[in-house]
Amino acid sequence: MLIVGAGQAAVEVATMLRKGDATLPITVAGAEGHLPYQRPPLSKQFLTGGVHADGLALRPPAFYEQNDIAVLTGTEVTAVELDSISPGGRASTASGHELDFTDLVFATGAKPRRLTVPGSDLAGVLYLRDLTDATALRTALERARNVVVVGGGFIGLETAAVAAAIGRRTHVVEAGDRLLGRVVAPVVSDFYRDAHARRGINIVLGAEISRIEGLRGAVTGVVLGDQSRLDADLVLVGIGAEPQTEIASRAGVHCQNGIVVDSLARTDCQGVFAAGDCTVQPHPVRPDESPVRLESVQNAVDQARVAAATILGADIGPPSVPRFWSNQGDLKLQTVGISRGWDQLVVRGSLREEKFSVLYFRERELIAADAVNSSADFAACRIALARGTSITPEAAGTVPELRALVA
Ligand SMILES: Cc1cc2nc3c(=O)[nH]c(=O)nc-3n(C[C@H](O)[C@H](O)[C@H](O)COP(=O)(O)OP(=O)(O)OC[C@H]3O[C@@H](n4cnc5c(N)ncnc54)[C@H](O)[C@@H]3O)c2cc1C
Repeated sequence: MLIVGAGQAAVEVATMLRKGDATLPITVAGAEGHLPYQRPPLSKQFLTGGVHADGLALRPPAFYEQNDIAVLTGTEVTAVELDSISPGGRASTASGHELDFTDLVFATGAKPRRLTVPGSDLAGVLYLRDLTDATALRTALERARNVVVVGGGFIGLETAAVAAAIGRRTHVVEAGDRLLGRVVAPVVSDFYRDAHARRGINIVLGAEISRIEGLRGAVTGVVLGDQSRLDADLVLVGIGAEPQTEIASRAGVHCQNGIVVDSLARTDCQGVFAAGDCTVQPHPVRPDESPVRLESVQNAVDQARVAAATILGADIGPPSVPRFWSNQGDLKLQTVGISRGWDQLVVRGSLREEKFSVLYFRERELIAADAVNSSADFAACRIALARGTSITPEAAGTVPELRALVA
């Protein structure tokens, strides 16, 4: 068994395979120089100094040894060749080695979308995906006075919240007309715009970056489409991530905005599976709808478990309900379900007190919820969605405790 990539999904596949099969040879090949670690703290506690690199490990080093899982760090897989007659093949690495396999899992994650405007290559224009990026960002944040975050998505807003909290003059420039526009309802976008503004962040919506200016190779400012200029000695670009599909695609695996897998984590090539941020998969609740790309710890873990169960021929259980969290300073967002296609919203709690939830309905059926500092509502919606019990919009709008509806 060869697993390409050594992140959240890879570790889970390897762990579950070992649980189910004591003797299967398992190799995990990861391009990074570290043992697998958690990414979520990189835009949160790692930047504030609340967590250090050695506190990020997904498993202690001894775990891999005890479970006979070979983790090859610093091992970038550059090509995969699949045998044409039977399942299996070989992978080539950047250092010129070959790794044979009979089954293969792609767990290659995603990489940040790059900004291409003039000045994008200046020193001080940073991205955030891995520990190396986060270490550079943390150092730059210590020295910076003016921070411009490009992109009002989760990573941009989490980083902006840290920058503002430590006293940096912070701007968020978003091309769309609202924050988090791809994933939340306008009421949630507006809440975040106001809440971040209250914390001193300058939110600029509907603005393109025209160019980045610099002096002696280092960033000094960002010029917007209307030619207005923001001083900057640090620019963090958070404009989304693209699935890492090149190797799979060149090996002949079907990819379309991700490595295409079915609900059993199988690609279209026999013996080749994929899990995590690199995949595009059937909608978990409405398989007849267009496929979804989910970038979350929960998806990486659950899809990895499905991949391992499929490989082992074990039962995969019911599909899991997508979940995500985002901590932007003291604003703790928890989401459950997929809100795409909603036609009715119910807002509970108080936006002003920064403690509320938004329930998304489609044809009166609960499909998703966003809860800000409201973990009880999140928990109740999670139970409802997992059980397929619907909460009506009327009941959601009136009951004091949602959990009464799912007890
Ligand atoms: C800064 C940040 C904050 C986040 N915060 C949250 C959060 O609050 N909540 C949440 O649910 N999710 C969060 N996420 C998303 C979550 O971390 C990802 O969804 C999850 O890590 C996906 O796991 P994965 O295994 O698919 O990919 P990754 O964890 O990205 O692992 C993929 C690994 O594969 C390696 N790789 C790629 N190509 C090759 C190759 N050819 N050869 C060898 N190795 C290769 C990469 O170097 C990488 O180490 C965050 C992500 C980031 C970057």
